[in-house]
Amino acid sequence: MDKIVSLCKRRGFIFPDSEIYGGLANTWDFGPLGAEMKNNIKKEWWKAMVWHRDDVVGLDSAVIVNPKVWEASGHLSSFTDPLVECKQCHTRFRADYLKEGKYGPVVEKEGVFYCPLCGGELTKEKKFNLMFKTYIGPAEETANIAFLRPETAQGIFINFKKVLTSSRKKIPFGIAQIGKAFRNEITPSNFIFRTREFEQMEMEYFISPEEDKKWYDYWKEIRWKWYLSLGMKEENLRQRPHQEKELAHYAKEATDIEFKFPFGWSELEGIHNRTDYDLKRHQQFSNKDLSYWDEETHQKYIPYVIETSAGVERSLLAFLINAYTEEQDKNKETRVVLRLHPKIAPIKLAVLPLLKNNKELVQTARDIFLKLQRQVDYLIDYDEVGSIGRRYRRQDEVGTPWCVTIDHQTLEDQTVTIRDRDTMKQERIKTEEITHWVEEKLCINSL
Ligand code: ATP
Repeated sequence: MDKIVSLCKRRGFIFPDSEIYGGLANTWDFGPLGAEMKNNIKKEWWKAMVWHRDDVVGLDSAVIVNPKVWEASGHLSSFTDPLVECKQCHTRFRADYLKEGKYGPVVEKEGVFYCPLCGGELTKEKKFNLMFKTYIGPAEETANIAFLRPETAQGIFINFKKVLTSSRKKIPFGIAQIGKAFRNEITPSNFIFRTREFEQMEMEYFISPEEDKKWYDYWKEIRWKWYLSLGMKEENLRQRPHQEKELAHYAKEATDIEFKFPFGWSELEGIHNRTDYDLKRHQQFSNKDLSYWDEETHQKYIPYVIETSAGVERSLLAFLINAYTEEQDKNKETRVVLRLHPKIAPIKLAVLPLLKNNKELVQTARDIFLKLQRQVDYLIDYDEVGSIGRRYRRQDEVGTPWCVTIDHQTLEDQTVTIRDRDTMKQERIKTEEITHWVEEKLCINSL
């Protein structure tokens, strides 16, 4: 984990936020490469969930919505974590994590728990609501309290009817959304794994109540395969069904897709059978009819919902860990390689003149780079600083799958070498074939 954190900082994937002011605990900013990789993950998700299907459409709903939404959804009363505080050092802990030993050995005497940091007595558990509060307008009055959304899903439920009619869909169909969510977590931790501000990729699939088992199983498999299609190693993933006592207030059944993080198996994505809970509650609180008329079966019902809910940052962290490798080269030097799937790699291609001090090579390389930049719809890089070997290493370390090198032969016959990050093998192709060559590899690499 330390190696990943240091690589992320050094190479511009992820920085501590507000560092010039001493930082803000557990808050991170995504640098140039991190921003690219995040966008790539979101794009691949959107492609798989929306573009490549005719039964799912996209949505982009508001972060701050009418507070009644949270009353109806149950978040105002139930979106809580159990909180305890040390009477001595005033550190706060999540009681469930404390009892599981996540903060260290559990010390309990006659029903009283003690602080894992200073040994002081802990307060009794109280419920702490994770929603961030804010005020709408200039008056900070109770009547104006609003919340930052803790999940993107509710934006989907409140728009369900309008999306259904405007897109002329029939059940079964889904609505997908990517966006920020905010949770005032008691103990954010593990780099970008648990933060107070994060992005979710959520999809709610509306179905007939009789078919919930079928679609629940279907989406577990589809989502599992998505990770594999982007290079996730199967041994790093597992599915963990929730036990009844850990089910969220809206769920009938749930499974987590977990990743083997250095700090243990932890959730990447949740697949939930939310039943008709949300639509029913919104119908009740809004007094608007949210039922569905099924033309085929001539039945009216409130649809059931299967949800797939993934975190962008958690996925990014998992993909980085999954890809990180260290190898010894023939000179016994360590080569760090991010074996990222090309589709999520921040830079797809780097253009390198063999020598920096040869004007003709540099000019030709620049020309090829500038032309390619306008032809492709992914990020490419140009680098002329340092020996060619060092430049290859720099690209390996950030996961660039291919490097194009312009050498003396290029000047004679307009061919270049193209080097593969993983095999380090080079082949010679015509300059005009570069884009086609890359496009083909990108397609071959998908499931
Ligand atoms: P946890 O048990 O880890 O708090 P959760 O079960 O509350 O997570 P969900 O409500 O199912 O999580 O959220 C769906 C997804 O959103 C999670 O699988 C995760 O990828 C992401 N997510 C949730 N909370 C956070 C957070 N605090 N920081 C980063 N990502 C998060």
